Parts: sequence; C-alpha cells; structure tokens
Amino acid sequence: MPKIRLGKGLAAAMALAVIAAVSLVVWLVALEAGKRRALAALDQELSVLARAVEGGIERFRYLPAIVARDRRILDALASPESGSVAAANAYLKAVRKDSHADELFVMALDGDTIAASNHDEPTSFMGQNYRFRPYFQDALATGTGRYYAVGATTGIPGYFLSSAIRDGERVIGVAIVKVDMGGMEQSWIDGRSILGVADADGVIFLTGHAPWKYRPLHALSDEALSDIAVTRKYDGVDLGTASPIFPGTTALPETARVEGEDARRLVRQVRIEPDGWRLLGFASLAPIHASALLMALLAALAGMLVAGAALYMLQRRQLISAKLHAHAELERRVDERTVELNREIEDRRRAEDELREAQASLIQAAKLAALGRMSAAIVHEVSQPLAAMENTLASTGLLASRGESEAVAGKVRAARDLVRRIQRTVKLLKSFARNEPARLEPVDADKAMAIALELAAPRAADDGTAMTLRPPVQPAMVMANATRLEQVILNLIVNALDAVRNMPDAKVELWTETEDDAVRLFVRDNGSGIPEHLRDRIAEPFFTTKVTGEGLGLGLSISRAILDEFGGRMDFETGTGGGCTFRIILPAIGQQSRREAAE
Ligand code: ADP
Repeated sequence: MPKIRLGKGLAAAMALAVIAAVSLVVWLVALEAGKRRALAALDQELSVLARAVEGGIERFRYLPAIVARDRRILDALASPESGSVAAANAYLKAVRKDSHADELFVMALDGDTIAASNHDEPTSFMGQNYRFRPYFQDALATGTGRYYAVGATTGIPGYFLSSAIRDGERVIGVAIVKVDMGGMEQSWIDGRSILGVADADGVIFLTGHAPWKYRPLHALSDEALSDIAVTRKYDGVDLGTASPIFPGTTALPETARVEGEDARRLVRQVRIEPDGWRLLGFASLAPIHASALLMALLAALAGMLVAGAALYMLQRRQLISAKLHAHAELERRVDERTVELNREIEDRRRAEDELREAQASLIQAAKLAALGRMSAAIVHEVSQPLAAMENTLASTGLLASRGESEAVAGKVRAARDLVRRIQRTVKLLKSFARNEPARLEPVDADKAMAIALELAAPRAADDGTAMTLRPPVQPAMVMANATRLEQVILNLIVNALDAVRNMPDAKVELWTETEDDAVRLFVRDNGSGIPEHLRDRIAEPFFTTKVTGEGLGLGLSISRAILDEFGGRMDFETGTGGGCTFRIILPAIGQQSRREAAE
C-alpha cells in the first residue's frame, strides 16, 4: 500500500533528522566539556610546573650567601695572589659537587672572576669579567642579585643567584651560583602540552618546543632589545630578527595554531615570581576533537539502533496486524462459503426431494397408464361376470316362480361365485393402483409374478395369447415392495403381449430361478424381438416404437429406477428365432427373512 510506504519514508527521514540533531548536540557538548576539562588539567599542570621551576631555583637561594661567608673565599679576595685562591677553588668545586649546582664562582669588585668551581676546566670562568651582568651589579647595590642569562663563556644558559661578600661592613666581592635549568627543559620535550617559560620581556628562554627557543611572544620594544644587548642576556642570539610567535598582538590568545599542526591548541599561562616570568602551556585540542567526534558517532549509532529497533517493531506490528486481517478475512470467507455450502446442500436436498416426488408420481402415472392400456380387458373382466350374473339372476327368478327351490339354491351359489370373481378383480386393481410409499419388505417373487399375470390375464385372453407361469422350484424371496415389483413384472408382461400381438402361436412364459444369492425373474415372449441398434435406447425415458397413445416410452426406465431401489437390475436377450427374454435380478434374502415372510 503506497500510504504505508510514504509513512515509513517520512518516519525514516524524521528519525535521521533527529539523530543528526542529537549527534550535533552531543558533539558540541562533548567538545565544550572536553575543552573545560583540558583547561582545568592544563591549569593544574602549569601551576605544578611553575612551583617546580621556582623550587628548582629557590633550592640554591641561600647558597651564595653561605659561600660568601667562608673564610677561604674571604682570604682569596683579600690576597688573590697568594695560595688562598687554590683553596677557594677547591672549596667551590667541593660545594658544587655536594649541592649539584651548575657552577659557583667569586667575582672581585672590578668584576673579574678570582675563583670558580670550573677553574680547571677549558671553559673556566677564572679571569673572566662579568661586570655587565645585572646579578653582579644588583649584589653590589642591594646585597643580592638574581638573573637568567646564557653563559657568556660557556654558552650554556642558567639562572644566576648572587650575594655580596663582605669583610665586616665593607663589600669586597660577589659570590655567584649558576643553576642549570636544562634538565627541566629536557623533560618537557616529549610532553603532551607544549611548555615554555617567557621572561618579563616575553622572550621564551626555556621550552620543549625547539622552534620557539629565544623567540619573543610579541614584537619587542627597542628599549627591551637594547637592555638585552647590554646585559648580554641571550649572548649570541639575534632577537632583533627573531619573528614573534603572536605577531600583531600583545595579549595571549585563548587558542593558537602551532606551525606544522592542524588542530588548534588551548593556551594558558601562570606567573613565576619574582622575575616576572610566565610559564606558558599549549594543550592540544586534537584528542578533544577526536573524542567529541567519537561521542557524536556513538550517539548517532545508538540513535540508529534505536530507530532501527523502532522501525523493526513498527514493521512487525504492521505485519502482525496484516496477518490478523488476512486471518479474519479468511475466516469471513470460510463463513461465507459455509453459508453458501449449506444453502447448496439445502437446495440439493430439496431438488432430490422434488426429484423423488416427481419420480413417485411418474411411477404412479406409468402404473395408471399400464392399467389404462388394459382397461378394455379389465372392463371385459368385470362386465362379463356381471352379464353372466344377470342371466343367472333371471333364470333364478324363473326357477323361484316355479318353486324349484333346489335349482334356485344352485343358481344363487353360481351368482355368488360371479360376485366373488368381480370382487377379486376389483381388489386386485385397487391394491395395484394404490399410491403407497415404497417400503421394503420380504416379498415372494413367485407370488408377485402370479398377481401380475392375473392382472394381465384378461388382456392376454383378449389377444388370444397363451400366457403361462411355471410352478416355483425353489423359494424366491427378495427384499422389495410387492406392489412396485408387481408393477415392474406387469410392465414386462404388457411389453411382451404388445410384441406378440397378431403373431401366430403367440406365447408369453414366466418363471423364477434362485441361484446362490440371487433371485432371477424371467418374462419370455416369441414376438418381434429388439433390433440390435435399439438395444441401448429402449430403456431411455420416452423411447417407444409404439404408435402414439399406446406407449409412453416410460415403462422400462421406470422399472429400472424401481429395481435400483431394491438393489437389483434388469437385462434382456434376443432369441435366435426372434422373441425376447427379459430378466430381473434381485439379491435373495436368507432363511430367517423367509420364515418371517411366511409368518
Ligand atoms: P412402451 O412400452 O411404452 O413403448 P417401454 O419403455 O416399456 O415403453 O418400452 C420401450 C420400447 O422397447 C418399446 O416401444 C419396444 O420397442 C421395446 N420393447 C420392450 N419390450 C419389448 C419386447 N418384449 N419385445 C420387443 N420390443 C420390446
């Protein structure tokens, strides 16, 4: 049905739209949540790392002041030419070893290095002058100094912590500890986030991301550039030509694209005091995008599963209701057909009843027709004794007047005989013509033969036909209806009489035979016979060879129908010298039935 298909298509389209919308919302929410989580994680990572950076420096905070108080250092500053320098050098080397500081050294008031922990190494600071460094100048001015810079001698960057060396109240030199921060930087190289420490000017000097090393976040002012040049902070690096990481802005963006990467990164920073540094973290958004996409896909998948299940259920419901519908339709048709069949059965029954009735009235008609055809003979049969009786009564009167009482008595007896003869004929006709229902009962076939013969006798006598019934040899009991069986036999006799009419030496012979389980009744004539080409036609209803009015052509067909009712049948043979023998075959009944019939 197109209506249902349209409904399904619409439902599927709507389901897809809902799934797409839900997936989009899931994607956005997951992205936002992912960002928030990443920001929180980044903030936490940065604050931990900032503390680590601070701690890494603060560890050495008091070391220069302690070194400044050592006698060997004071002695070396007091008399640098003496052997005290060697003692100071040995002391500094030992302290470096114990404290894991990068280097320790002592500068005189003119800025010359007079003792150093690396005094015996190729990159020794001995004799070098670092007067230009702020940590030296600050220590002279304020007593302490601190500064990050790339080593002017070694080229190795480090954090310089300094302390003034005093002899009494008088400042006589500066003690410096250089802290190496390279180890920390190394550990950042393969981290998930890109990390970097920028100084107060915004120059990144520590980072795990090599391309950013010694690059300013934003364009540097001339003042800052000249300051960096004077202090030789980043010795050997040309910051004037280094391109800023975020050109054209002084603010830090929330997200940034790192060169060589597709996804943007979240940007956060924390301050590291006291130098005005900033620890920057760039967390990748790629995993957040990936997981948001995954969530959206999962949502879409779940939505499709739910929609699929819903569609399946919908289809199933439709299928079931269609099946129920079909079932109901089938039942309805079966009911209709049952009603039709009942009606047909009823019609058929009625038709059969009508047929039976028609057949019964046909049988009756045929019977009456047979009687009608014999009516002349029957009238003769009645009128003849009546005439005789008239004569007898006339002569009785005469004899009575003469007073011959004995002769009168004889005449009265004769008259009574004549009346009885008439009575018998009338009774025979009455019982034959009776239209009674065909009830089956044991019937003596010989007796039926005798009655039929008697009925036809007047006609035979009229025609001058000799009609004989052979005496029975064996009992011939059959299950039949006496009147109807007589009707069948009479039919055969009338046909036989018709066939032998006007024949010289006309004969009709009747007899019965009982053999095994069958009783056979024979009616033979020496008449015209039946031509071979008519053999199959004679029993057809209304087939007759007789002149109009003499025969209806129903005798044989009705006889067949009657014999069918008794479970019997009929056939005939044509004799070689003409003539016909009709044979009725009926099932014989047993001894008991015979006894009952006798009783
Ligand atoms: P009807 O006697 O009214 O013609 P039947 O059905 O009794 O009708 O017989 C049909 C025909 O069969 C008869 O017209 C006759 O031609 C033929 N027939 C029946 N019995 C005989 C017979 N014994 N000898 C010759 N022909 C016969």
